Amino acid sequence: MLERKEGESYSRFQARRLRAGEIDTLEPYDHDCKACKWVGWFTPPEGGAPLNVYLCGETVIIRFSSEDSDYWSQTVGNTDPHPIGR
Ligand SMILES: [Zn+2]
Repeated sequence: MLERKEGESYSRFQARRLRAGEIDTLEPYDHDCKACKWVGWFTPPEGGAPLNVYLCGETVIIRFSSEDSDYWSQTVGNTDPHPIGR
């Protein structure tokens, strides 16, 4: 059983457990908008913790953890600042 390291984020811990074969699937982060459709997990090309992608009507939401405020959102097709490498 892998242990969560000091200061390690939940998502990094889960990703390690997945690679080690300890778990089969990553459960989505907590997200309380009932209108949102969960798209899936996404790992940034430069590495790092996997993210959750959601669609809410014309809005894309990218969640970095289960922490309430830890997300980025933008309307579909808007090319303004992207969330990766923030
Ligand atoms: Zn929503």
